Amino acid sequence: MVSGQYSEPYGYSNWQLATGNWQLMRIGYGWDSHEFRSGIPLKIGGVTLPHDKGLAGHSDGDVLLHALTDALLGAVAAGDIGSYFPPTDKKWKGADSVIFLQEALRQVERAGFRVSNVDSTLILAEPKIGPHAKKIQTQVAKLLKIQSSAVGIKAKTPEGMGTDNAAIAHVAVLLEEITKRLTRRKKKNK
Ligand code: MG
Repeated sequence: MVSGQYSEPYGYSNWQLATGNWQLMRIGYGWDSHEFRSGIPLKIGGVTLPHDKGLAGHSDGDVLLHALTDALLGAVAAGDIGSYFPPTDKKWKGADSVIFLQEALRQVERAGFRVSNVDSTLILAEPKIGPHAKKIQTQVAKLLKIQSSAVGIKAKTPEGMGTDNAAIAHVAVLLEEITKRLTRRKKKNK
């Protein structure tokens, strides 16, 4: 190694060293699935959708918020949804999944990060997500306190997968470090 090539702090790129932008980023990924059951409300992304079946689960079965919660926790290596809200605990029976998401956001903040953007894919035969995508996008953005344009909501049907009675969600998140060092550096230059 050339002396000084990785001058302190170790691990930053040449671009970061050159520009003084020490901002770190983290990627997270989560997925979840729930089975459809008649006679319960269908909640996806914190929005109740009109449908004759809902998603069964210990909580309200919100498959998108569960995958999002795991993606956020994974990005800061803070465990998974089950380590905070075990399905064996009666306390979380029928719980609003927004509670899970809020805990994940607390962990993200505690680690010194904030959400940059989110992308998601829902896989389900019914109902069609297209007509509700905007509403889900707006609600997820509101829960994450970010702009709607930073929340991707996509949907596909499960061709050839044999999972027509289930809803599956995949979520990727990008976090950015809350840049205390950069702020300090700017102040010093004034
Ligand atoms: Mg779940």
